[in-house]
Amino acid sequence: ATAFDIQDALDQLGIKQTNLGTSTGSNWFSSGEEIASHSPADGELIGKVKTTTKEDYEKVMTSATEAFKTWRVMPAPQRGEVVRQFGDELRRLKEPLGKLVSYEMGKSYQEGLGEVQEMIDICDFAVGLSRQLHGLTMHSERPGHRMYEQYHPLGVVGIISAFNFPVAVWAWNTALAWICGDVCVWKPSEKTPLCGVACQHIAARVFKNNGLPEGISCLINGDYRVGEMMTKDRRVPLVSATGSTRMGKIVGKTVAERLGKTLLELGGNNAIIVTPDADIKMTVIGAVFGAVGTAGQRCTSTRRLIIHESVYDKVKDAVVAAYKQLRIGNPLDQNNHVGPLIDTDAVKMYQEALDRVVQEGGKVIVEGGVLSGEGFESGCYVKPAIAEAENHFEIVQHETFAPVLYLMKYSGDVHNALELQNGVNQGLSSAIMTNNLREAEAFLSHAGSDCGIANVNIGTSGAEIGGAFGGEKDTGGGRESGSDAWKIYMRRQTNTINYTTELPLAQGIKFDL
Ligand code: NAD
Repeated sequence: ATAFDIQDALDQLGIKQTNLGTSTGSNWFSSGEEIASHSPADGELIGKVKTTTKEDYEKVMTSATEAFKTWRVMPAPQRGEVVRQFGDELRRLKEPLGKLVSYEMGKSYQEGLGEVQEMIDICDFAVGLSRQLHGLTMHSERPGHRMYEQYHPLGVVGIISAFNFPVAVWAWNTALAWICGDVCVWKPSEKTPLCGVACQHIAARVFKNNGLPEGISCLINGDYRVGEMMTKDRRVPLVSATGSTRMGKIVGKTVAERLGKTLLELGGNNAIIVTPDADIKMTVIGAVFGAVGTAGQRCTSTRRLIIHESVYDKVKDAVVAAYKQLRIGNPLDQNNHVGPLIDTDAVKMYQEALDRVVQEGGKVIVEGGVLSGEGFESGCYVKPAIAEAENHFEIVQHETFAPVLYLMKYSGDVHNALELQNGVNQGLSSAIMTNNLREAEAFLSHAGSDCGIANVNIGTSGAEIGGAFGGEKDTGGGRESGSDAWKIYMRRQTNTINYTTELPLAQGIKFDL
């Protein structure tokens, strides 16, 4: 049912089977083996993309480092103008790109559109920011001296992204990096390579129309081995990597060995605390969307509900009742709430998690299972499941990237709930549902949530681009998107200017000749 639609979307995005190989005028050289991209929605082959070889990578780096020389001297507001045009192209192509995201990754069409909207939003943010890349001025201790700091472009920014946000994460990084004067080399997930090709086409066209080198935006394809070309490469001063904690530990170490910078956005294990003062209706909507949206494949997906014993049964019953309403099926059909997992490996991990929680003493209260039959031919559709569990279970401590929600009870005050919430290695997103000011403030206080994102009366999942996004502990500590996240894409320089005829030294040191 989707085949026709998707062909139309691919045509609008300029993706043809014949140009998925080597460079096609866009700055993208790939001549290695082929990766086939199958849709988890219906199992169909969408297209094949060639991977980047070592030789291809050298060509990419040459074009990126050359392009940097042009781009870095262009005034930042003019770079912002180019990013504005890129945002306009995304507005024009929102529907086909949203459709491709939905079809290749398996998220709902609404979420596919939402992802493109996020790209548009970050472009708007970056355009404004292009006039605000300011440093501080400070008073010098020496007479007749002026001291200030400024931010300069860094160089080639390497972007490694995960499958679950196949286009937005790139845009969060690249829109900021571009206005900062950097050029970007992007390695999208090998599970969603066509989304990468589509974005590269859009960016390449905008740079070309402006008479700018296309090397400002480069694409490399393949798995971790292609990612490693960048993590080991001294010509890449910053590697921004989004994905699992396992990947982040390797990337962090490899880049640190050459004293490069990393921006790490890794796994989460996000909880909603439900207190006796929670609005139950809001809680149910927030928890269910958080747990089953994107089939539980968001870094901010709700994994744990920590519920006060006095409202435990009420919340449990309401959530279980809501799960009965969920429609699972093709993500391009807007009547469905839950689409497929990315691939059958993910299905296996989901099944293992459900077995594991029972082995550890948990109780499944909404049965899971893999769906088969008409409409589920890809083998990637699973039923969202709920289990009652304890926080210390190994499986609960682990991020399972699937719609499995764990319920647990707390008693006493909110600090007991916080102990459970913070009692995991990850530190991305967190939420409290309460109308009690004391509980809300305790949750947000120094002794409260230890996560990078802490919400009151909102679920854990989804964030606006205006705030800095990221988390602590095993989530990697990086921040991207809004606020002052741009600073990591630039190098800071402190400047002191002497406008006298004397040469006084700092700290009053005497050195007479
Ligand atoms: P993954 O770690 O398997 O892969 C992510 C990317 O890293 C891919 O492009 C992959 O090819 C690359 N990679 C893997 N090993 C590498 C290595 N040694 N060197 C260089 N590159 C390497 O993750 P995934 O399955 O695609 O995505 C799911 C994970 O991403 C989840 O853990 C999720 O929480 C996390 N995630 C985090 C955020 C965030 O902002 N914190 C956002 C989205 C996803």
